[in-house]
Amino acid sequence: MILIGPPGAGKGTQASRIEEFLSIGNLSTGALLRDAIASNSKLGKQAKALVEAGNFVPDDVIIGLVSARIEEPDCENGFILDGFPRTSGQAEALDRLLEKRGKKVDVVVEIKTEDDVVVERINGRFACKTCGEGYHKAFKVPAEDGVCDNCGGTEFEQRADDSEEKIRTRLALYHEQTAPILPYYESRGILRSVDGTKDLDDVTEQLKEVLAAVN
Ligand code: AMP
Repeated sequence: MILIGPPGAGKGTQASRIEEFLSIGNLSTGALLRDAIASNSKLGKQAKALVEAGNFVPDDVIIGLVSARIEEPDCENGFILDGFPRTSGQAEALDRLLEKRGKKVDVVVEIKTEDDVVVERINGRFACKTCGEGYHKAFKVPAEDGVCDNCGGTEFEQRADDSEEKIRTRLALYHEQTAPILPYYESRGILRSVDGTKDLDDVTEQLKEVLAAVN
């Protein structure tokens, strides 16, 4: 299952919920890159400036990451892709990767939102520095002020690419390079959409309905 939508559409949050619901792998290229940057690996060093500026990392780097990640055991019975593919080159490479393994894309879901909505959402985002659990000033605050619900951590941070200027760059790239791959899936009859402006639980329900109709 592929989730496609602009930054701030809720792909990461929904992917985690679906991962739990279906017990399948959850593959977020953004999270893989942030881990590589945090560990200061060679790949992380190459990607850091691009990610922090809100630009795309080259297709070959991303495809390498995905092809290694889908070999992991949690992806054996299927997986959700969050943030990949983002270009037509990546969409075609994904088909080749899957074909080699006797797999295919079952369903692609566009999470539809409006630019102003996502700018407001991303502006309020922050995450636990220890475990990465995501929060939002208006929509999801920790139960106890200043303490992470998940791990008890007390330090929080905003993503380096979540400033308003970077969000605009990321949105522009979404409209220029990612939205144009939707017809590729539509022509195969596997594209669905959900209304991402609704609250989180509502969007999860919409996604479950989409999944229930997939063979
Ligand atoms: P995300 O967490 O999906 O918003 O991704 C964060 C950042 O990682 C993006 O703004 C890009 O810099 C980079 N990135 C993630 N996935 C991709 C991809 N499929 N292609 C190119 N760059 C990516």
